[in-house]
Amino acid sequence: MNILNIENGWLLEQKQVISPHFDPRPFNDDISLLVIHYISLPPDEFGGDFIDRFFQGKLDPTEHPYFEEIKDLKVSAHCLINRQGKITQYVNFNDMAWHAGVSCFDGREKCNQFSIGIELEGSNNQPFTQAQYQTLAQLTQVIMQTYPKITPERIVGHCDIAPERKIDPGQYFDWKYYQYLLSQI
Ligand SMILES: [Zn+2]
Repeated sequence: MNILNIENGWLLEQKQVISPHFDPRPFNDDISLLVIHYISLPPDEFGGDFIDRFFQGKLDPTEHPYFEEIKDLKVSAHCLINRQGKITQYVNFNDMAWHAGVSCFDGREKCNQFSIGIELEGSNNQPFTQAQYQTLAQLTQVIMQTYPKITPERIVGHCDIAPERKIDPGQYFDWKYYQYLLSQI
């Protein structure tokens, strides 16, 4: 994959699908946490454009029983990395995506305000792909360069900031391998 660049909060030359699910960040110069998630729609199925449509608020509830359950949720993330390692960006990094929900990191609540959220297309039932780890490491690197308050100890899973509610990125996410790749860049 080519070197990633961020300009004015957007990745250059990567797929963009604009989500309406965002707010301006309430505080300037506050981006200081990276949150890793997984998502698949329908659950445990990969491919298709259901995640794009979900983050746009355009999921058709008649297409799958699960979509009926989630159709009124208004959520987003800054980026998705699909099974092939391709990135889609939905929300400008300088804005607040709606990925963390009720959450707390190091005593501070409302993690959406000060975090960037990355979704990996995946589930708690199968490993992530090599292409996803490679892309995630490169994306993490450019995010840390652009937002230097995100330090290695401020990269967490959704499970770490909402432990009562969330398990993602789940048992198959290999934190040690991710850290190894980051150290190699
Ligand atoms: Zn999550």
